[in-house]
Amino acid sequence: MQTAANAQARGWRSVYFNAQAIPYWLIHVGAIAGVAALGWSWRGLAWALGLYAVRLFFVTGGYHRYFSHRSYKTSRWFQFVLALGATATAQKGVLWWAAHHRRHHRGSDTTADLHSPYHGGFWWSHMGWILARDFEGTDHAAIKDFARYPELRWLDRYWVVPVIAVAALSYLVGGWFGLTWAFAVSQVLCWHGTFTINSLSHLWGGRRYASGDHSRNNPVLAIVTLGEGWHNNHHHYQVAARQGFFWWEVDITFYVLRLFALLGLVRELHGVPEHIRAGTRRDRERPAATAAPEPTGDVPTRA
Ligand SMILES: [Zn+2]
Ligand SMILES: [Zn+2]
Repeated sequence: MQTAANAQARGWRSVYFNAQAIPYWLIHVGAIAGVAALGWSWRGLAWALGLYAVRLFFVTGGYHRYFSHRSYKTSRWFQFVLALGATATAQKGVLWWAAHHRRHHRGSDTTADLHSPYHGGFWWSHMGWILARDFEGTDHAAIKDFARYPELRWLDRYWVVPVIAVAALSYLVGGWFGLTWAFAVSQVLCWHGTFTINSLSHLWGGRRYASGDHSRNNPVLAIVTLGEGWHNNHHHYQVAARQGFFWWEVDITFYVLRLFALLGLVRELHGVPEHIRAGTRRDRERPAATAAPEPTGDVPTRA
């Protein structure tokens, strides 16, 4: 199986500046050039941030909590809506995303993890692994439960179609202003907001549970990522539809899912059992010899 070390061995040019990465960098340049050419606009920023929240919900509520972890149920048509919205965030196919995320949980922060900041540095975990061409294929065996739907397989293969459609729509509705703020700026923010979950959420924050990896809980990242910043909670109990385990742990994705459940769009949101929430107690009771290994806390030095 292809590993992060193999890809990194090819060197940073091959990781960050290969042919497939060109659109990624062009959209960054377009966002900056567009704002410079059109001038600063608070209205533009409001559009970018509003659509950032919509995009990010599809990442967290769709790609992550539904397709990767099946933390709630929904109808086939709404499943497609979730897949379409998630795919429009330009993070490759829905089956690709979920299959790779399941791999992350199978060996978090070990050499088997494709995006650990402890094996490749911050920038590798943040975006190097997704830009590298080494992991382009979708492992259908890892995502059999969703790969059986032909519409999802189609979307997984032609994932650029919704991205181009969103860019075209932004231009048709708002001209250069729309293309700059609603598409490019919002898309760049969405990428980096999402990517903090793989990079900063394994580096910066507290650890409530001995999850055997470096996952962290961080209230700042929880706001930025609509709830995903409670990443140590999530690694402790992955199947929960909520990642904020207590009422004060703000989890906007979960509030939206609750609203969707009230509207009948989704159902059976997986909760957090009391013994899981109080998990530190069980960890303490476990004999030291069999306890999950605590991370050493070493911080990567190579970016
Ligand atoms: Zn993680
Ligand atoms: Zn996860």
